[in-house]
Amino acid sequence: MGASVPERASTNEAGVECDVVVVGAGFGGLYSLHKMREIGMAVRGIEAAPDVGGTWYWNRYPGARCDVPSLFYSYSWSPELRREWRWTNRYAGQEEILAYARFAADRLDLRRLIQFDTRVAGATFDEKSERWIVETDRGDRLRARFVIMATGGLSVPNTPDIPGVADFTGAIYHTARWPQEPVDFEGKRVGIIGTGSSGVQVIPMIAKAASQLVVFQRTPNFSVPARNRPLTDADHKSFDEGLETYLASLEQSDFGRVPPTAFTAEVPPRDVQWARYEQLWQEGGSGGFLKAFPNILVHPDVNEVCADFVRQKIRETVKNPKTAEVLSPSGYPFGVKRLCVDTDYFDTYNRSNVDLVNLREEPIERITASGVDTASRHFELDALVFATGFDAVTGALLAVDIQGRGGATLKDAWSEGPRTYLGLTVAGFPNLFTITGPGSPSVIGNVITNCEYHVDWIAECLTHMRRHNLATIEPDGEAQIAWGRHVAEVADRTLFPKANSWYLGVNIPGKPRVFMPYIGEGYRTTCKAIVEDGYRGFRFGSPTRALGEAGK
Ligand code: NAP
Repeated sequence: MGASVPERASTNEAGVECDVVVVGAGFGGLYSLHKMREIGMAVRGIEAAPDVGGTWYWNRYPGARCDVPSLFYSYSWSPELRREWRWTNRYAGQEEILAYARFAADRLDLRRLIQFDTRVAGATFDEKSERWIVETDRGDRLRARFVIMATGGLSVPNTPDIPGVADFTGAIYHTARWPQEPVDFEGKRVGIIGTGSSGVQVIPMIAKAASQLVVFQRTPNFSVPARNRPLTDADHKSFDEGLETYLASLEQSDFGRVPPTAFTAEVPPRDVQWARYEQLWQEGGSGGFLKAFPNILVHPDVNEVCADFVRQKIRETVKNPKTAEVLSPSGYPFGVKRLCVDTDYFDTYNRSNVDLVNLREEPIERITASGVDTASRHFELDALVFATGFDAVTGALLAVDIQGRGGATLKDAWSEGPRTYLGLTVAGFPNLFTITGPGSPSVIGNVITNCEYHVDWIAECLTHMRRHNLATIEPDGEAQIAWGRHVAEVADRTLFPKANSWYLGVNIPGKPRVFMPYIGEGYRTTCKAIVEDGYRGFRFGSPTRALGEAGK
């Protein structure tokens, strides 16, 4: 393949023929498209939404905001994008993040590679031709050597199956499928189910508009203040000055949730911890808390002090002691369910138009035409909001009917939980890559830079395959089993498995309880070492046709 870049895949009566199909046009998908084109692949993108942005396209509920600082929640690989984009807030809101995704897609001229409003229904590996046959809900058929699933870890909404929901005559919303037009809650009686990250963001916003807001809470969550504010010139200057160090740290560092020192660190005295948490509470944001002490997510005694600290803050903020008690998380450790970051969440319960219903005491029995029946009361409502989360990490991958060697389905291969090698590849599914897949850091930390790392790894791998004229790559079953064991062992040494979180899949009925993200240190080092060791744990297949030919 020469230096010229085949931008357009070829089309014949059998469908579109290309080197790579990228599924999803969120941050992972957009960078995949750019990178694949850059290394000379004929690439096609398929996106279910009418626009780019992925999860930031759909989650447009009032208050939606990222909890990674905006200066870092950006593509790190492009000096041009960095120069031409200026974030306005410490934590960017959904609108600004979506605008950034659109800006990146336009600036990189990616839109013409993407087919929008189209959902990938199935992908089948044809062993004879060593091609993936990708089929869409619009009847398209694409043949590609590689498929990159950039479908996102938080993209399939979870709507619990509560009896009677179809009878409700008011409006129903889900935070993860919020309408394009602003929703007017002025003067309305609104009910909301769910108090995770989405709930704690949307509740204060709805409370300001609605005549009455009823929050149906099953499990109280730990939440810390965002202390969002406009960015100043000084903030931008300080970021620019630290840029080189930051980029180098991305290159070298391997920040998992659990540093190696976690298991040997001392338990800090309570007053030392308390002072640190107070400082972090005033600074705002979740990152500092999760790293406040190396063993905070490992040692129950350290963790419990932090949990106590947050409960104390809730008691100080919420005037009604009974409400404060119901809002106070207990029975599971701090920070091992995704830590929420809020603006005025706890204070919202001091409003006279907000009621908190403890579903542990009075579970929802059914939804009726006019509202919600709990075990002891009926609530009349005009609108109902589901802030009930996602079928996370594996949901979007399993929503596609993926069939690998011998017609084996991904659904069957993962019936007891996801199995991957490095969260990037799956045994028996050659030339299929998962961006931020289960078994990688995936949803932990900064998802944009996690995506970048995977895309860069894939680009290097495909370049290697082209150089050596290799047709297929897939992990060895044994290597995959060993990696899965390692992912589980790392998690089991921490407090993470002690909470019923979506990290474990327990929010979805019937989903196997398996800890999905990789939370150890050293992920990038491991991936690099595997490559340097001749792609240890992978099997390559011999060539049938040179790579990068499809677009010619
Ligand atoms: P979530 O964390 O899974 O929270 C879902 C909520 O719905 C929980 O409170 C859950 O209660 C409740 N729920 C689910 N089914 C229920 C039922 N049948 N009856 C009553 N309550 C029910 O979902 P999320 O809030 O959408 O957040 C998901 C993830 O998206 C976050 O953890 C985060 O990674 C990401 N996110 C990030 C941001 C941000 O950057 N700031 C904002 C939003 C989302 P239980 O806990 O009892 O199951």
